Amino acid sequence: MQKDLVFSRNCIDFIDDAAIHQTLNAAKVDPGRVRAIIAKSMNKEALSVEETAVLLKADSPELTEEIFDAARRLKREVYGNRIVLFAPLYIGNYCINDCKYCAFRRSLRSTVRKTLNETETVAQVEALEDHGHKRLILVFGEHPDYTPEFMAETVRLIYSVKKGHGEIRRVNINAAPLDHAGYKVMKNAGIGTYQIFQETYHHESYTKFHPAHTHKGNYLWRLDGLSRAFEADCDDMGIGALFGLYDWRFEVLGLITHSLHLQQEYNVGPHTISFPRLRPAHGVNIDPRYLVSDHDFKRLVAILRLAVPYTGLIMTARETAAIRREVMQFGVSQIDAGTRLELGGYSEKQNENQELKREQFSIGDVRSLDAVIGELVKDGFIPSFCTSCYRLGRTGEHFMEYAIPGFINRFCTPNALLTLSEYLEDYASESVKQSGYQLINAELSKIPDEKVKKLVSERLVKIQNGERDLYF
Ligand code: SF4
Repeated sequence: MQKDLVFSRNCIDFIDDAAIHQTLNAAKVDPGRVRAIIAKSMNKEALSVEETAVLLKADSPELTEEIFDAARRLKREVYGNRIVLFAPLYIGNYCINDCKYCAFRRSLRSTVRKTLNETETVAQVEALEDHGHKRLILVFGEHPDYTPEFMAETVRLIYSVKKGHGEIRRVNINAAPLDHAGYKVMKNAGIGTYQIFQETYHHESYTKFHPAHTHKGNYLWRLDGLSRAFEADCDDMGIGALFGLYDWRFEVLGLITHSLHLQQEYNVGPHTISFPRLRPAHGVNIDPRYLVSDHDFKRLVAILRLAVPYTGLIMTARETAAIRREVMQFGVSQIDAGTRLELGGYSEKQNENQELKREQFSIGDVRSLDAVIGELVKDGFIPSFCTSCYRLGRTGEHFMEYAIPGFINRFCTPNALLTLSEYLEDYASESVKQSGYQLINAELSKIPDEKVKKLVSERLVKIQNGERDLYF
């Protein structure tokens, strides 16, 4: 067991299972109250746990449709119609933990284990750049080899890889909780978001899936993980739950409780929330009791959208292409695309086959980045590789200054158009290039501010003439 752990200054276990159950059971659903709560969200105010519980209980077809409609409108008002794209890059899948739902758990000997060395990492990044990616999230198991120094070195290496117009402009991290000193090392390497999923906020289920003798068996060390990161001056945090381990309504209230706790303690909520659903994985037997249906998954996303109006919502390629297409409208702001989870998979022949012994879990959407971009454009979304907020210091509290009042639309849409144009010039198939520029011209004409419209037009011409990396 880990010794001498130093927690955050006001560390408490802010998840009270009985209180969450009681809030869910006590929530009364009358249409007037539901509409008042929706109005609060549309005013871009975060919802309380109790208000979110009312929306979770409001499952009549009529009220569900009102919740869906509000989520669609709120997403457009706060983030415009852009969808930010990224790719996950697994660096190492050795792990000392033994999480029951994971193909990388230490007791599963048949999993193919690997840690990318420098040459292999560069090859992966060049392959990702050749596909057109600009934003990555690095994934590490928890292992003594994956020290903060090793992860920081990997981040620096990735920022140094330039191929043609290819470069990675933002690197996020999904890894184990660190101590204050560890987060400082990551901060100094120039990371974007640090992501830690509690997996399940339900204490009893957490103990069931995470053996007590493993590092990850320490519920409070993990729950306190991002509080320590804030205290170490990291800016952007990502929280999440693995839906399917326990009742999805409880997990949604766990996420909202966590979000409000960070807001209260550090004056800034999570930058992103993820809501992965359990997927088939090598050597994993899934207990179907708490699996989330597609209908409830749509409700889950729409309710999160209303509960945290200014927090990014990440939907991954765990979901099938069909579900992603349907759920995108309910408030999702970021997705991965052209995803490969096999370590070293991006430089291998791209096809639809997955090697489960090399993956943490199977994915539902194996389409290429170009195919996903083509569909987003067809559906009226602007695919974006924007990293300007991060690079201009609009992060953490400063990001929220922009997000809360809803001004971000003035930055998101112009930057989405510019980064999309780069992709169309350097990486797109001919058909995607054509439909992409039709979308850009249509969106350009919709920009209300003539001065902004002129600046965007000028920069689009510069990009077509070969300049790159122009942003607001
Ligand atoms: S979920 Fe993460 S910590 Fe748990 S076994 Fe898998 S890789 Fe390790």
